Amino acid sequence: MKLETTLASTQPIVFQQLHNSLKHGRLGHAYLFEGPAKSELEQVALFLTQGFFCQNAQDGLPCGLCSNCQRIALKEHPDVLWVEPEGQTLKVEQIRQLQKEFGKSGLETTKRGFIICEADKMSIGAANSLLKFLEEPQMDSLAILTTEVLGKILPTIQSRVQILNLKPQAPQLIAKVLVEEHGLAVEEAKLLSQLTHSVEEAVEFSQNQWFNEASNVLLAWVEKLLQGKTAAFVAVQTQLVPLFKEKEQQALAFDLIFLGIHQGQVATNVKAQIAAIFLQAQQKLQSNVSLQNVLEQGTLKTFSILHVY
Ligand SMILES: [Zn+2]
Repeated sequence: MKLETTLASTQPIVFQQLHNSLKHGRLGHAYLFEGPAKSELEQVALFLTQGFFCQNAQDGLPCGLCSNCQRIALKEHPDVLWVEPEGQTLKVEQIRQLQKEFGKSGLETTKRGFIICEADKMSIGAANSLLKFLEEPQMDSLAILTTEVLGKILPTIQSRVQILNLKPQAPQLIAKVLVEEHGLAVEEAKLLSQLTHSVEEAVEFSQNQWFNEASNVLLAWVEKLLQGKTAAFVAVQTQLVPLFKEKEQQALAFDLIFLGIHQGQVATNVKAQIAAIFLQAQQKLQSNVSLQNVLEQGTLKTFSILHVY
């Protein structure tokens, strides 16, 4: 399917906006795309860059076929630089390298473009370096930044770019892609689509042995909890605490707990009360009370709502 067709249906608002700007030659110098899925952020960046460079654009839309479009898609165009984090950070040297490349005139065209993926991973040095760069836009250049967390981008950078938000895809759509394109089982796809808005992240989860075990154990625990089985109390220490050690894992534990409660076989008003208990537990965890402590307290409070004594 053509990129524009995909984007027109998955991100109609952003697509329309970019299409208009391309059509009327009113593209800004710098954009920041925020959205929950890396692959989609990359698609939008690709679309816009192709639109900017295409030799054969029709009605502002990139053809996808000319040598510019194709090389951009392959990340092989000499005038388009993709900057991605090395490990956990985007380093200042990477931005300096970018500036150096930009200082040269276009190798083939008079245009230059760069895409900084996961811009929230820029070190302070890198961000400041980029800032100077954004303050002095080159004549015919296009800068694109992408992020999954807008809040982590310096306000000074935010104020110099045009920010477009991609909306999260409906879980049903993610589940469908997981089943049809990644061969996941329907039940697993449903679970993962509730936990993440990102297909890649869902696929990573599905291949992660820890996740598979941890999610099974945790969802079984929630079931016991909702049935008011006292074994659920003991299981906090014996089963859950050893499994969810890291901060990130514990955050995920709560996502799973809320999901388990939501799917549980109890009345809606009871679900709401139990969810409120665990929301409070989650806040306590964030203020550094131990996981064991907050889950045991949550279990006891749940039992009192369910009248288990
Ligand atoms: Zn083209």
